[in-house]
Amino acid sequence: MDYGMIGKIEKAKRYAQERKRITFNNLDAQFRGDHNNYQMLLNAEGWNCTCPGYQAHGICPHVMAMERLLRPMLKREPLPYAVGQNVVSDVEKAKRYSEETDRIQFASFDVTFDGENSAHHTSYHDGAWDCDCSFFHSRHVCSHTMAMERILGSMITAAAPVAANGR
Ligand SMILES: [Zn+2]
Ligand SMILES: [Zn+2]
Repeated sequence: MDYGMIGKIEKAKRYAQERKRITFNNLDAQFRGDHNNYQMLLNAEGWNCTCPGYQAHGICPHVMAMERLLRPMLKREPLPYAVGQNVVSDVEKAKRYSEETDRIQFASFDVTFDGENSAHHTSYHDGAWDCDCSFFHSRHVCSHTMAMERILGSMITAAAPVAANGR
């Protein structure tokens, strides 16, 4: 029995419930809107979305949906409503979009994990994981990557752990 792995799976379950531990530093995601696909970015400077609404107002239902979905993990104030924005319609859309998670595909993201012992950096890029914890170093999977898989589900492309026990 792989007790080390069993412990990490238990920890991942717990972490997925304790989302305040997680902070999104950046993300790059595709968003399938009602009419078009858009690219959403988050980095230290803030959000960006390629949709016309965002380009005009600096806020849009796609970003608002992400703010709902990732709520305790963003650690930043929601974008303020803008003059000229159709707030009623955008709030309604954001609510609906945040329940239709098949619209969202993450291409990459980087999170900081406030773990039980120390902070860790976990990232995902085009199906590949990375984490700076020692368990990941030897096993290519860890409680942090597994917690993110639980949280984001089908919003990330399931990546098979690379040679978890083959060496
Ligand atoms: Zn948008
Ligand atoms: Zn890790």
